[in-house]
Amino acid sequence: KEAFAQGLTEPASLHPIIDPVRCLGSGSCIKACPEQALGMIKGKAVLINPTYCIGHGACAAACPQDAITLVFGTEKRGMDIPQVDPTFETNVKGLFIAGELGGMGLIRKSASQGAQAMDSIAKLKGSANDYDVVIVGAGPAGLGAALGAIQHKLRYLIVEQEVSLGGAIFQYPRNKVAMTAPVKLPVIGEMHFKEVSKERLLEFWLDIIEKTSIQINYNERMENVTPTDNGFIVKTSKGEYTTRSVLLAIGRRGTPRKLGVPGEELPKVVYRLIDPEQYRNMHVIVVGGGDSAVEAAMAVATEPGTTVSLCARGDEFGAAFGGAKPKNRDKLKAMI
Ligand SMILES: Cc1cc2nc3c(=O)[nH]c(=O)nc-3n(C[C@H](O)[C@H](O)[C@H](O)COP(=O)(O)OP(=O)(O)OC[C@H]3O[C@@H](n4cnc5c(N)ncnc54)[C@H](O)[C@@H]3O)c2cc1C
Ligand code: SF4
Repeated sequence: KEAFAQGLTEPASLHPIIDPVRCLGSGSCIKACPEQALGMIKGKAVLINPTYCIGHGACAAACPQDAITLVFGTEKRGMDIPQVDPTFETNVKGLFIAGELGGMGLIRKSASQGAQAMDSIAKLKGSANDYDVVIVGAGPAGLGAALGAIQHKLRYLIVEQEVSLGGAIFQYPRNKVAMTAPVKLPVIGEMHFKEVSKERLLEFWLDIIEKTSIQINYNERMENVTPTDNGFIVKTSKGEYTTRSVLLAIGRRGTPRKLGVPGEELPKVVYRLIDPEQYRNMHVIVVGGGDSAVEAAMAVATEPGTTVSLCARGDEFGAAFGGAKPKNRDKLKAMI
């Protein structure tokens, strides 16, 4: 009821659908879910806190009745999954997709899909382009792909719009424990983790980058991919590259909308709140009038020694924060 009252009814990404006929109410999924996303209603498991769900699928694995299916779309918003064949090639020849964008929202699966896509790309005929493959995104899928590219001795380039590798993992809250399973990757062998902190996982990947000398072009955003007679031109925020093939490993979390103001490129400007604690004793400006901005501003403002200026368009409170939920607006009013 509380989740409904607050409008928190839509899971962000991959989430379970529970078949009420198969579900016998064993509660195994509820125990297995580390995010408290599931509960029991009238003897059946239900996704009671949809926005808590982060889609690692522990519930589906724990269900003795096979009553749980993991899906991306919801009735309300639907979900387009790109058309990808078993070699990860799309209906555009030479354009490949791996990881969460293609419908696979798990760390290990994304990484191995990236590597498998390189097995397919290695079979394509050579060309006179700058690269055999441009990999877009340095999350698990892009990193798995880079290892595959090394194994196949491909001429590759990775562009990543963020300042760090890791993709969604880089955005996890501090000390968040990710649940995964061992997976074999090219060049490095097994990624052996089952439960691992965000920090340890990022360290693991950084160590691989160092050992394998994988080059990642950070802070470089892919803007456009145009087919040519023998491949593609990939236009980025920093240049243009010709390539025989492209792997889109860009996940589903999108690209933040930028303000376009001087100084925006400085490392102290961020587009997601990962950990309010890191802003203790600082003055923080939050820009935006919707729920994300209001929630971020309130979370930072409750940290000791912090002051927050919240900037939103509109002459008065109602106009500036009309897009936020009533509950958030009330809380914000009380905090001003
Ligand atoms: C909070 C949270 C917790 C999770 N917990 C788990 C868990 O416990 N276990 C598990 O298995 N999975 C978990 N997941 C899911 C898992 O993190 C994702 O499925 C996985 O990261 C997908 O990998 P990916 O490489 O496909 O995409 P992403 O990790 O999203 O990486 C995509 C990368 O592409 C970059 N990019 C996007 N657009 C562009 C562009 N135009 N130009 C250049 N770069 C671009 C992005 O900056 C990003 O770095 C969790 C997800 C979240 C959000
Ligand atoms: S997918 Fe993960 S977070 Fe979502 S309900 Fe299942 S176990 Fe919980």
